[in-house]
Amino acid sequence: MAIKIGIPRGLWFYDYYPLWKTFYEELGAEVILSNPTNKKLLDQGVKNTVDEACLPVKIFNGHVMDLKDRVDYIFVPKMMSVYKKEYICPKFCGLPEMVKHSVSGLPPLIDTEINFNKSRRHIMNTVYQFGSYVTKNPLKIRNAYKKALTAYHDYKNQISQGRLPIDGKLSHDHNQIKSNPANKRIALLGHTYHLYDSFGSMNIIEKLKEYGVEILVPEMINMKVINERAATLEKKMFWSYGRKVLGTALYLQDQQQIDGAIYVSAFGCGIDSIVGDLFERWTRKNADIPFLLITIDEHTGEAGVNTRLEAFIDMIDWRKRDEGNLSAHG
Ligand code: SF4
Repeated sequence: MAIKIGIPRGLWFYDYYPLWKTFYEELGAEVILSNPTNKKLLDQGVKNTVDEACLPVKIFNGHVMDLKDRVDYIFVPKMMSVYKKEYICPKFCGLPEMVKHSVSGLPPLIDTEINFNKSRRHIMNTVYQFGSYVTKNPLKIRNAYKKALTAYHDYKNQISQGRLPIDGKLSHDHNQIKSNPANKRIALLGHTYHLYDSFGSMNIIEKLKEYGVEILVPEMINMKVINERAATLEKKMFWSYGRKVLGTALYLQDQQQIDGAIYVSAFGCGIDSIVGDLFERWTRKNADIPFLLITIDEHTGEAGVNTRLEAFIDMIDWRKRDEGNLSAHG
């Protein structure tokens, strides 16, 4: 019988899921996903995580609980760094330990360390370690990894064309507004695990689409362009996520092609508090477009988010109608 590997639908999931799914399936394992985030899963995560943790970590623990009784292993890598000389977040680095101390009755975790600050040889050893949970055959592992990389690049390519991975499933509806310049175009920035988790984000992407908005997210912008713009920062941003968001913000502000900007932040996230603040200041100073900060935790009410979104869209409409004569910030 095939080994069952559980993949929680949280945190790194929206960036790397096709890579690890293809990898383990090529090795002959059965990959089982946790259910999309829902109220029960969120409540379980909140109950089993320290209060101080950010909402995405609480949601992740809820996904682990959803999987724990139906798989042989749960995939919770220790993600130190995915780019040279950069880090993701201390919570990603200590995620396996946090999970082990929060959730009881767990099956073994696949908690191998991923660290791109180390040599290329070390990275390949890491891949073999991941594969060794299913097979000891290095050739098989190498071939599975090659196929996994192809699946990963294909996934990224589709997202860059506007197919957003809502709850891990690529949407069919591309942004169609590109051909109609009268419509609104909004930069939507935030962690992938925040924006693309429909329950966790209170369905913000769908709501914006209902308003007829074209959405631009960092994943749609060429990474080379983002890196070039981020390199102009006075100080190197050593958080990978911060580099991506600030590089995107600088690029979009240069292009002057957006009518408004929304930043979705996680309550309790130190990186968000810096990046969100910088993004807001630049937007106000350089772009003179409406800016909306939405901070979400487990107590945030959806009605309040809806009201703020509606007011934000109204403001963009008024500014478009009145040729930008309205102030972007009151
Ligand atoms: S970057 Fe922020 S939201 Fe993401 S895991 Fe770290 S603290 Fe939480």
